[in-house]
Amino acid sequence: MNRIVILGAGYAGLITAVSLAGRTRRREDVQITIVNAEERFTERLRLHQTASGQRLADLRIPELLAGTRVEFVRGWVTGIDTAAHRVRVDDGREIEYDRLVYALGATADTDTVPGVGEHAYTLDSAHDAELLARKLASLGNGTVVVCGGGLTGVEAAAEVAEQHPGLDVVLLGRQEPGSTMAPKAKAHLHAGLARLGVRVVSGVEIVKVRPGSVDLADGTSVQADAVLWTSGVRVPVLAAAAGLRVDGSGRIVTDPALRSVSHPQVYAVGDAAAIQQGYGVLHGTCGSGLANGVHAATSIVRELDGRQPRTFRFGYLHAAVSLGRHDAVIQFTHPDDSPKRFFLTGRPAVWYKETVSSIAWPSFGQLKTFPAMGAFVWRRGGRFTR
Ligand SMILES: Cc1cc2nc3c(=O)[nH]c(=O)nc-3n(C[C@H](O)[C@H](O)[C@H](O)COP(=O)(O)OP(=O)(O)OC[C@H]3O[C@@H](n4cnc5c(N)ncnc54)[C@H](O)[C@@H]3O)c2cc1C
Repeated sequence: MNRIVILGAGYAGLITAVSLAGRTRRREDVQITIVNAEERFTERLRLHQTASGQRLADLRIPELLAGTRVEFVRGWVTGIDTAAHRVRVDDGREIEYDRLVYALGATADTDTVPGVGEHAYTLDSAHDAELLARKLASLGNGTVVVCGGGLTGVEAAAEVAEQHPGLDVVLLGRQEPGSTMAPKAKAHLHAGLARLGVRVVSGVEIVKVRPGSVDLADGTSVQADAVLWTSGVRVPVLAAAAGLRVDGSGRIVTDPALRSVSHPQVYAVGDAAAIQQGYGVLHGTCGSGLANGVHAATSIVRELDGRQPRTFRFGYLHAAVSLGRHDAVIQFTHPDDSPKRFFLTGRPAVWYKETVSSIAWPSFGQLKTFPAMGAFVWRRGGRFTR
């Protein structure tokens, strides 16, 4: 029996599971297990909607996996013993593997600035986003400070401002929002934030978060009734603790086929993997995580068949940013994520963003039956995006 254990049922882990299920459904020698903290699938791309009080679809992982031979284990992974090929779960369970797929994602880095862990909200999980939603609903009026001028911060600030017009929303960050976009797309993003009443303060260094304020390096502080932290990411320490080779950010360093360079029985996919491409190391996105997962599944099946896995190659296609429910900016990109001149705004951009945000869950269902579809769309990383 080949025991394949997948840790994490986010975008990357779940697509690995359904692709493997589809590709091995006629084999009796494969046993697939997926472990995740929650039964409900977290649409991480939409957590700013949850935080601003919107309800998301209730997508259940066990229901998706019904009819496959994938076993779902709800639990929190607490350790990996790479020598014994065993994973520990918080309920005391130990799960043995022959091949492991590490897909535990990443969360906001709340350690770098004092006070963030104690006084700021995050969008790390549906629960965290719901905590912020409750706080915002209780405020009525007041000031919400969103820390981090990256795309997650922009989406969150815009969504909160649109859903809570009585609140003042301040977007604080080192970088100018939309700094990776072409000038016209960036101008639209700024106009959209201004229209929603978001006050953008960039070029600042946040040094402390206190109850009721955010302190800046220039000695000033910004009053805040609620603080949302979106700046920086960190990955679970499990990989490093298990002795897997990780990069400076704790992500598992992979070979060209997405296997750990130190432990080739371990595949790493999604935000928790450091995957080298010609233009640099991938920064995690939903699209790259889905492509990773399909590739890992295909590679594992190749190995089971005694063949060598192939090299993963991926190119970015777009940066898709919502500005509330009625506007968005889609910046199309070169494969290395640098901006092209072409971009969408307004209604076409809203439609595009909604389409790409909704596509994962139905694709998971289709891949159970038609796994070759994954190999077509994401062939060795994505034939359309190189
Ligand atoms: C608000 C927001 C908006 C975003 N918008 C976009 C966007 O528009 N486009 C885009 O490409 N990307 C976007 N991203 C980033 C995108 O969500 C991530 O790149 C993507 O989710 C990575 O997928 P993943 O499978 O690696 O990790 P995740 O989707 O985070 O999945 C990891 C899974 O592992 C589980 N897990 C973690 N640790 C444990 C443990 N110890 N035990 C058990 N289970 C565990 C988690 O519960 C989760 O289910 C956004 C992120 C946020 C927060």
